[in-house]
Amino acid sequence: MSNAAQPLWDHAASAPNRPALLGTAGQRWDYATLRDHVAAFAARLRAAGIGPGDRVLLVAPSVPEFVAAYHGLLSVGAIAVTANTMATAPELEYIGADAGIGLVIAWHALSAGPASGPASAAPAAAAAAAAVGVPFWALRRELGGPAGPDAPGEALPNGPVTVDADDTAAILYTSGTTGRPKGAMLTHGNLHACASIFERVHGLGPDDRAGTALPLFHVFGQACLLATTLRVGASLSLLPRFDPREMLDLIRDHRLTTTAGVPTMWNALLHAAGDADPADFASLRLASSGGASLPGEVKRAFEKRFGCTILEGYGLTETTGSATVQVTDRGATVGSVGAALPGCEVAIRALDGGEVPTGGIGEVHVRGPVVMKGYWGRPEATAEVLRDGWLATGDLGRLDETGELFIVDRTKDLVIRGGYNVYPREVEEVLYTHPDVVEAAVVGVPDDHYGEEVAAAIALRPGATPDAAALRAWAKERLSAYKVPHLVAFVDALPKGATGKILKRAIDRSLFEEAD
Ligand code: ATP
Repeated sequence: MSNAAQPLWDHAASAPNRPALLGTAGQRWDYATLRDHVAAFAARLRAAGIGPGDRVLLVAPSVPEFVAAYHGLLSVGAIAVTANTMATAPELEYIGADAGIGLVIAWHALSAGPASGPASAAPAAAAAAAAVGVPFWALRRELGGPAGPDAPGEALPNGPVTVDADDTAAILYTSGTTGRPKGAMLTHGNLHACASIFERVHGLGPDDRAGTALPLFHVFGQACLLATTLRVGASLSLLPRFDPREMLDLIRDHRLTTTAGVPTMWNALLHAAGDADPADFASLRLASSGGASLPGEVKRAFEKRFGCTILEGYGLTETTGSATVQVTDRGATVGSVGAALPGCEVAIRALDGGEVPTGGIGEVHVRGPVVMKGYWGRPEATAEVLRDGWLATGDLGRLDETGELFIVDRTKDLVIRGGYNVYPREVEEVLYTHPDVVEAAVVGVPDDHYGEEVAAAIALRPGATPDAAALRAWAKERLSAYKVPHLVAFVDALPKGATGKILKRAIDRSLFEEAD
């Protein structure tokens, strides 16, 4: 039986004039235009000798041209290795060498680079290509041919390439639970599974207008949003970097019906909305939140202000972005990340491998069609996390009797103070309820007496006065004494990763040496 996977963007055949991708530089691609760009890009790849199974590093922000290159790669059976536009040359070189890439494609433009990062991905990517010894192409708005000399290699004949559902479509590097970044192999089948599940559970259709500032190089944007939108034949408006004001304009001007993001984005949108007219956001019916735990306070305030439901999901790069999701008709319980996606299973197992009674805390395991094929070139690391189809996520959680999952924390973020387990997320929830707190991250710092001490890094609202004692008192009223952050450091903003979620490992621990 054939296990062939159709292209996700196949809507070109039935609805060629429907809008597919809208970019901030005025690009308005309908499905026929997308098909033509993908075909033209695929032809150039074949001419350069890129074919089935070849890995190609793609470094670009969220612009329509990313999608042409990405689906061009997938349509010739090649594997898109998508990397962060803020990555440095050595980081890209590591990925390139690890994945055994045959070509680097990177966005050339100056304007679409992240404000705080290098202006363009191209220099770092070009340096990585040179270091690995492979050709480099600059991806341009006009989608012209390769920037450098034509890539050497044998031209492949044109003609349809059949890809199987089990063939790897993309490799995304993630630190996972331990060690150096590993390439999670996502198959065509994984992408289709993610897209078809979201289509069903969120009731998405061709009349939806999705929009996002999530990077397409990350699994959340790439699978949950891009793959899903193209599969249902809806339009996707892209913002190359997150700016709350630009995102508010996008919602208003493109009359978005749905969007996706991480909790820090909802918080920033809330603060940026000021006294904007609610009519500006009236089109928005659904916001999908993931990547990190959504504080109940932020959820409630956003829903009230924007008149739109936030449904939270949970997942990892290794589960094609999602493993559970809240569904409208089940009601969204604050704190829950929903139930297992249809066709998927979630189980809780003790860290020592023993049984966990219903409602007990243990490591979250996931099985189903969204679970990755494995880590590229790392059978041992794969075997550590994938057993009998079950993926060990490295997250601590509990399942209630109805099957709703509650993420307690990451196993590695757990703070053990004097023998007591402190789940940072629970403490952060309390800190977020304080009216002056805009961002909060709780971490453990080494302590001679307790082994670890609870420490909080806090960003306050502009104009608020830092007062560690007042924050501690706030926490003390609401939490057992051993959970109260003993050390509190104030920062302008917390360090964030590519999607905007707070990066705890990047918090400068020396801040707490001086802390109150
Ligand atoms: P890196 O690639 O640097 O390792 P990462 O570990 O954050 O980053 P991702 O695959 O992007 O990798 O994120 C997956 C993790 O994000 C999960 O293991 C979980 O800890 C966290 N996460 C995702 N969604 C939620 C959620 N709704 N609530 C709590 N945590 C979440």
